[in-house]
Amino acid sequence: MSRVYNFSAGPAVLPEEVLREVAAEMLDYNGTGMSVMEMSHRSSAFQEIIDTAEADLRDLLAIPDNYKVLFLQGGASQQFAMIPMNLMRNRVADFIVTGQWAKKAWQEAGKYGKANKIASSEDKTFSYIPDCSDLPVSPDADYVYICENNTIYGTKFHTLPNTKGKDLVADVSSCFLSEPVDVSKYAILYGGVQKNIGPAGMVITIIREDLITDQVLPGTPTMLTYKTHADAGSLYNTPNAYCIYVCGKVFKWLKSMGGLEEMKRRNEEKAKILYDFLDSSTLFKGTVVPQDRSLMNVPFITGDKDMDAKFVKEAAAQGLVNLKGHRSVGGMRASIYNAMPKAGVEALVAFMKRFEEEN
Ligand SMILES: *Cc1c(COP(=O)(O)O)cnc(C)c1O
Repeated sequence: MSRVYNFSAGPAVLPEEVLREVAAEMLDYNGTGMSVMEMSHRSSAFQEIIDTAEADLRDLLAIPDNYKVLFLQGGASQQFAMIPMNLMRNRVADFIVTGQWAKKAWQEAGKYGKANKIASSEDKTFSYIPDCSDLPVSPDADYVYICENNTIYGTKFHTLPNTKGKDLVADVSSCFLSEPVDVSKYAILYGGVQKNIGPAGMVITIIREDLITDQVLPGTPTMLTYKTHADAGSLYNTPNAYCIYVCGKVFKWLKSMGGLEEMKRRNEEKAKILYDFLDSSTLFKGTVVPQDRSLMNVPFITGDKDMDAKFVKEAAAQGLVNLKGHRSVGGMRASIYNAMPKAGVEALVAFMKRFEEEN
């Protein structure tokens, strides 16, 4: 068996310890004689799995008691519709468009009400975060929406926008659990788990309780109403049980590593190795303004498409895989999530140095 360093933006690298544990429990989970894949979601064994996962997530993020944790399906993209259907009571919401994911959320919300684009960084290919200290927030806005870490472009809100008292909704898919956050600053934070937490097929939505009501837009399907899932403890219908189980393992792994303060320290250390090299390189350069750089997704280019393609190909031959940039931007992108060891980033930089010397 030989494992590669997988720099994919998602589905992405998982902690090797977690993969070994779930492999060991594949045929017989905890004396049940069956795999979690084969288990009833109504069984006591599974109830314990989901309860423990939620408790550990609450611990990691210090989630206040007046927030619910929902394990939902449909990925992050389903939330683009579910949020306006549940929250757009005045049918107005404001969007800060900092990349393709925020743009998709903005466009989707436009199906349900007035979706205002109050700031954007599209003028410079989303390579920065706009100044959000004094935006024209709509007086009747139901919420202000951001994508906190822009997976494709490699930017991150290091300061949350001034929403002028309006509720903040954030897509945190690609920075989920990468550092501590103050949950009370958000009305909703949610993320697809396949970036920094677990296998694909689930989104975790952390939502303030007062937003969970029957007052949803007319025609909202039962399955897309937060209250349905909140009332049923995320077990209204069959959930993605195996995904919840693996995410729970990752939460335990994060706790054993020292929690989110320690993950932040590690992530800063890893990102610094890569950014310092990019800043000194004569061949490669980063594409994001330094103050808005993401710790998780690091895009870079050589400025020459053929050279980029050669780099991606030769890197893969060295076991450094999935470094091709998103199809919409080209170049390269190294995603260095929680589960990417420092040794992986060091191996990447060592290869980049060699490639620079040879080209
Ligand atoms: C990947 C990603 C999405 C889309 O996630 P799906 O689970 O595939 O719907 C949305 N937002 C961000 C920030 C992402 O990185």
